[in-house]
Amino acid sequence: MSRIKYVYGNWKMNQGLKEIETFFEELSENQKDWKCVFGIAPQFLHLSKVLNSTQNMNVKVGAQNCSHKESGAFTGDISPVSLKELGCDFVIIGHSERRAFFKESHEVINEKTKLALSLGLEVVFCIGETLEQREAGKVEDVLKEQITKGLEGLTAKDLENVVIAYEPVWAIGTGVTATPEQAEETHAMIRSFLDSDTAFNASTTSILYGGSVKPSNVEGLLSNENIDGALVGGASLKAQDFNALCEEASKLS
Ligand code: PEP
Repeated sequence: MSRIKYVYGNWKMNQGLKEIETFFEELSENQKDWKCVFGIAPQFLHLSKVLNSTQNMNVKVGAQNCSHKESGAFTGDISPVSLKELGCDFVIIGHSERRAFFKESHEVINEKTKLALSLGLEVVFCIGETLEQREAGKVEDVLKEQITKGLEGLTAKDLENVVIAYEPVWAIGTGVTATPEQAEETHAMIRSFLDSDTAFNASTTSILYGGSVKPSNVEGLLSNENIDGALVGGASLKAQDFNALCEEASKLS
């Protein structure tokens, strides 16, 4: 079954106002013809600017995280209700940097996911093993646990709005990419698990790869049957690279 390809840029805590302007000035005119789904997740403070800059474009706009609660005494947190109200399309949940630096548990990730989906936001649900876990032969167990616990209690209908992003932690921001064979093998395992052990409709679920994706390796990764796109950090910061990634994803869609 062929699924449309995705390119989602995770800008993390990068890009100032000037860089954002330049990015959208340099975003290819061809974007109106791209067949892939493409989007950007800037810092929270820049969501309005990015939403304004992309009004006449097909670019989806998302947040990199959200609160597990709708409102209340959660100083410094950002409600997914506000994200939806502002016009966001998606939210990234469970990124390995959130899991590692902010100690996000399966339970809190599950709460965030449920809430964001209930508000009509698409959830880009990140999973991935560390190098230590890979070397210990635990990839399957780690990914299955992240999926089972993080998505517990969600119905087939809820899961229609979930995109999985497989991001091996050892490949994020390191310049080391999983080989297309390694990535495809893991994606195939994830899809088969979604099919046999979860409420997902596995054949229509998009599973993105993330970890040092760049214009020079995107074709090798995205031309695989089970790799439906890329979640991209570093290479999404420059419009030229982002254009090249989307051109390739569009060709393969
Ligand atoms: C990411 O943070 O989601 C990511 C994949 O980063 P990079 O592309 O820089 O490895």
